[in-house]
Amino acid sequence: ATPTAIMVGTGLGANHGILVKNAEALERAQNLTVLAVDKTGTLTEGRPAVTDVVPADGFSRDEVLGWAAALESASGHPLARAIVAAAGQVATAEAVDTVPGQGVRGTLGGRLVLVGSPVFLRNNGVDVPDGSVDVLAAQGRTLVAVAVDGRLAGVIGVADPLRSSSAGAVARLQRAGIDVVMLTGDHPATARAVAEAVGISRFEAGVLPADKAKAVQALVANGHRVGMAGDGINDAPALAAADVSFAIGTGADVAVAAADITLMRGDLNGVADAVELSRATLVKIR
Ligand code: ADP
Ligand code: MG
Repeated sequence: ATPTAIMVGTGLGANHGILVKNAEALERAQNLTVLAVDKTGTLTEGRPAVTDVVPADGFSRDEVLGWAAALESASGHPLARAIVAAAGQVATAEAVDTVPGQGVRGTLGGRLVLVGSPVFLRNNGVDVPDGSVDVLAAQGRTLVAVAVDGRLAGVIGVADPLRSSSAGAVARLQRAGIDVVMLTGDHPATARAVAEAVGISRFEAGVLPADKAKAVQALVANGHRVGMAGDGINDAPALAAADVSFAIGTGADVAVAAADITLMRGDLNGVADAVELSRATLVKIR
C-alpha cells in the first residue's frame, strides 16, 4: 500500500474504534487466513462471578473460599477478582507467587496453599479426581481448585458470560474466509462448551502462555497468515508471534503494548472491521 492508503486506513480505523499502532499490520490484515483467539476476556466478558463452591470431605465452603481469596487478592487475574468479591472478608497471605496461566501459590497461617487450574494442582502433586471437576466444566464453568498442604480442599466454579458480540463476530470472520481457532489455558470441557456456544470448531485447551505462542508459530510455519486476539498477560507471547495482533482495549497493559492493533470496543467485530478496512482501503487507493 502507498503511505496515503495506510494513513487513510488508520484514520478510518480510529472512527471504528480500532487503534492502529503499526500501519503495516493493518495492511497485512487483508490476507489473514486464520485468527487465533483467547477465550477468557476475549470471547467472554472477562467479568466472571463465582457460582459454585464444592468443598472436599473435611473442609467447609467458607474455608475454601477464604483461603482462595487470601491468595487471589495478590493477583490481578479476572478469576481472582471474582473470588475476592465472593469471599467478602479477606485474610492476608504471605509469600504469594503468581504463575501466569496456572494460578497462585502462597502461605497462610504457616500452611502452603495452592489456588488455580486442576492441572496446576496436579503438577504440584495434589490429587484432583476427575469426578470433582467434570460436572462443573461441562457446564462451561471455569474451575479454580484449592489445595492446602498438598491436599485438595475444594473446587470453585466460576461463570464468565460470553460477550453478546462473540458468536456474530466469529460468523462474520468465517464468512470473510478466516478460520477461527480458540486457544485457552482453561480446562478442555470448559473450552468445548464455550467454543460450541460461539460457533468455533477448532480449539486447543490447557495451553500455557508459551504454548499459545507455539500454536501461533505452528500456524505461521504451515503457511497461514495468522492473526491473534487476546486480552491477558498470558497472551502477550502469542500476540508477539502473530502476523497481526489484536488486543482487547480493556485488557492488560502488557497485551495492549504487545499488539499491533487495539480494539477499543473490546469485541471481535473489531477484527472483522480491520480486515474489511484493510481490504477496502487498499483496493480503493491503488
Ligand atoms: P485463558 O487462556 O482462558 O485466558 P488463562 O491463561 O488466564 O486463561 O488461565 C488459564 C487457567 O489457569 C484458568 O482457567 C485458571 O484455571 C488458571 N488460572 C490462571 N490464573 C489464575 C488465578 N489467578 N487464579 C486461579 N486460577 C488461575
Ligand atoms: Mg484472556
